[in-house]
Parts: sequence; structure tokens; C-alpha cells
Amino acid sequence: MDNEAPIYDNHGRPITYLRLSVTDRCNLRCKYCMPAAGINFLPREEILSYEELERIVRILVDLGISKVRITGGEPFVRNDLIDFLEQISRLEGLEKIALTTNGTLLAPHIPTLEELGISSINLSLDSLDRKRFEEITRRDQFKKVMETFHLLTESSIPFKINAVVMENQNTEDIIPLAELTRDYAVSVRFIEEMPFNGEGGNDSVLTWTHDKILDHLKDYYPDLEQMQAGPHSTSTNYKVPGYRGKLGIIAAFSRTFCGTCNRIRIDAQGTLKTCLYDSGVLSIKKFIRDGATDAEIIKLFRHTFANRAKDGFEAEQRRKENHNPIRESMSLIGG
Ligand code: SAM
Repeated sequence: MDNEAPIYDNHGRPITYLRLSVTDRCNLRCKYCMPAAGINFLPREEILSYEELERIVRILVDLGISKVRITGGEPFVRNDLIDFLEQISRLEGLEKIALTTNGTLLAPHIPTLEELGISSINLSLDSLDRKRFEEITRRDQFKKVMETFHLLTESSIPFKINAVVMENQNTEDIIPLAELTRDYAVSVRFIEEMPFNGEGGNDSVLTWTHDKILDHLKDYYPDLEQMQAGPHSTSTNYKVPGYRGKLGIIAAFSRTFCGTCNRIRIDAQGTLKTCLYDSGVLSIKKFIRDGATDAEIIKLFRHTFANRAKDGFEAEQRRKENHNPIRESMSLIGG
């Protein structure tokens, strides 16, 4: 274990949470994430192998990362994901392994994930209406995802629902989704839509901001109670009195939580992002495949963390200055 763990960035924030995208491929085509067609998925050799991923996670755990979230694309479209989870579950110092999934392929794996001690699952579910679900995801998978939802409610794995709120798409789902918290001890989080749709061109105005979502919830639930948030929480959390679950709003576009951000990302092609809004600050894959030693990789990580943007606005500004506006799909980054 590195004796200086955890690492702090140049703004005094500890870096303890890695979001790791294991594939850019997905079996859904959510409108806010990918175009309907014409996506150039990465060739297999551009994706980090499980051995490479395991090595990176091990090094980062030594540097103080205690939580890893596996994401994608859809992580379960990658073969042998369970073997990889099993491998990293043995890493000493890695306290939490979480997953983000669309739930279409999850059901048969739930018992194994319970055995592995997966700490939490985020299930993406933007609508409770089969037709709207299909319009948003461009695939008819609603039934499968709801089956997974019910299996998760019966499992021992804590889980949350993530719903991106979009004008003219699913605002009529906000209250039905929130109503799930009446009977289920689940967190339902509403996320501001971000400009990572794989096409670009939607990065200026957002209608359904955190405040608008909150007003909408308060209109329906006048006694909505605000709850205390954890130290690195990205959501502001609420509860309807008497309901079993919780509600959250993630100001992902308004970026109000950067001051406590403890997370880094490694995308499916092995590029490190120290902010969701940066364009990638280090190609770890390149160094690994050029034969870098662990000590050299640690040095690179340290240097990169010492040059982290203050917030998502600064990160976005830096890429604008480099004439590299946001065009990428969230399926590459992992959310
Ligand atoms: N396939 C998995 C899933 O659906 O959860 C994991 C990857 S997906 C990219 C991770 C999360 O990013 C999902 O909750 C998705 O809703 C969110 N996401 C994707 N594009 C987004 C966007 N443009 N704005 C806000 N959230 C987005």
C-alpha cells in the first residue's frame, strides 16, 4: 500500500472513487446517449483487456481508491464480466464495488453478485411506460428491465434508479417513478440531461434543471423533506414522509457538486478523465502498452491528479480552448 494514500488533487480533494468503463458497446440506443445508427464502436484491440484493467485498478487501490464502479456501454455485454468482478473483489483495500447497468442482462447474475458482495447497483430506468421506454431507448426491453427491478427489490444488494429527465420525452414519468419509493426502499434519482449524446450540438440550454425538477416534485409532494447528503454526494436527497425509499436530484449539467468531487473515470479506451467534462487527460493504455512499470504509472497518475480542473466548467472551458467541443457519447465514458 502506498503510504501517502489517499491522494489529494491540487484543490485539496481526496481521490477515492474510480468509475471504470469496461466497454463502449451497449444493447440499447438511448437518445440522450447515442445516435440511432452510425456509431463507430471501438475495435476490440482498443479496449483494455481484463488483465490491463485489473492492473490499473490494483495500482489505483494502492493510491487510495476504495470504491470502483463498473460501467459502460452496458457492462454486461462484455463477456466474462463476472470473472473480472471476482478478480478485483480480492483486492485488499478495495472496499466497494458498484455497478451501473441498464438491467436488460442482469437478472441471471444477481445471485453471483450477491455472493461477491457487490455493494450497490444503479439501474437506469427513464420511464415506467413501455412505449415511452422504447421511444427513449429505441429498443423494446421494458419488460426485462422491470423483471430485473423486481428481482433487485428481493435481493440483498442495495440499488438506486437513475432517470434522465428530458423535455418532451419523459417528464410525465417523474411522479410515477417517485411513487416507486412509496412501496420500495429504493432511491430514485433524477438526473439533469448532459450534452454527451454522441452527436454534439446540445450543450447550451437545459430546460429540466435541478430546480425545475425539485419544483415539480414539491408541487406533488408539498411536505417533501430534504435529507442530509453524504460528503461526496452528487445528489440532493429528499423523502416523502411515510414512504420507504428516497428521492434524489443530480445537477449533472448545473455542476453544483464539483467542490467535493472525489471521482475519476477511465473510459473504455483506457483514457483517464479527472472530470466528466474534460476530454481525457491521460492515455493510460498507451503507457501500459509501451511497457511502463507500476512506479512509472503511479508517477503519471500523481502528476495528472495535481493538475485537475477546479470544476466541470473549467474542464469544459479547457477543451473549448483546444477546439475540442463535447461530441462524444456517454457510452464511451460510462456516465
Ligand atoms: N449501460 C449502463 C446504464 O444504462 O446504466 C451504464 C452506462 S450509462 C452511459 C451510465 C449512465 O449514464 C446511465 O444512468 C445513463 O442514463 C447516463 N447517461 C447517459 N447519457 C447521459 C446524458 N446525456 N445525460 C445524463 N445522463 C446520461
